[in-house]
Amino acid sequence: MSPKHILAYGDERIPYEVKFDPSRKTRIAIHVEPDGSVIVDAPSDQPDEMIQKAVHKRSRWIMDHVAEARDRFSHVRPKAYVSGEEVLYLGRRYMLKVVQDDAATGTARLRGNRLEISTKFTDAGKVRGIVRAWYRLRARDYFAKLIDKQSAALPWIAQAPPFRMLEMTRQWGSCSPQGQVILNPHLIKAPRACIEYVIIHELAHLKHHDHSPEFFDLVGRHAPGWEKPKKLLDGMVEVLVND
Ligand SMILES: [Zn+2]
Repeated sequence: MSPKHILAYGDERIPYEVKFDPSRKTRIAIHVEPDGSVIVDAPSDQPDEMIQKAVHKRSRWIMDHVAEARDRFSHVRPKAYVSGEEVLYLGRRYMLKVVQDDAATGTARLRGNRLEISTKFTDAGKVRGIVRAWYRLRARDYFAKLIDKQSAALPWIAQAPPFRMLEMTRQWGSCSPQGQVILNPHLIKAPRACIEYVIIHELAHLKHHDHSPEFFDLVGRHAPGWEKPKKLLDGMVEVLVND
């Protein structure tokens, strides 16, 4: 990872991040992530001025995609954590129900199509805390089971790797060089197929620590049709990380 670079375009200043990839031989590739952040993949010996030139050459394209992503984000309203509001869990919509109870310790549970919160204090901050804790608990349990299940079925994994959770705004997961899987707890709101795809992706990194053709070959063999859940997930990112 490198310090932030800035693309100046009219009055706009767009920061972008350069990721040097030793396996990349020639071309520079520019991506605009669903949240509007700009990533430039470059061969590791690429001089800075070549990168700047490549980014500048595509500035119109970058600006269009950044504007599009910002526009999508602007339609997502902040949550109020009141009864009637919609919450997502494993890709399904539930209705939040906040029940005031002087004896309650602050609990959440699913009942039919509702997520019911019992709490003494019903202010948004308190309810948000209870909902977040509930998501985390569910995520830990669900992810652990899925990692165990998938690890058992993947020939290059002898033992399910350790994992931890980390809230991230533009990443669903990662895999450390030491083989620890990191997953974004917001992922528990996504459909099951999306969660399965992210976990397979991270488990495949235990064999290939890069995004080489061999890596995608492996993912494709063990998760055929993975492009579909990935696309679905990318399209939902601003809704899923909104809390
Ligand atoms: Zn990856």
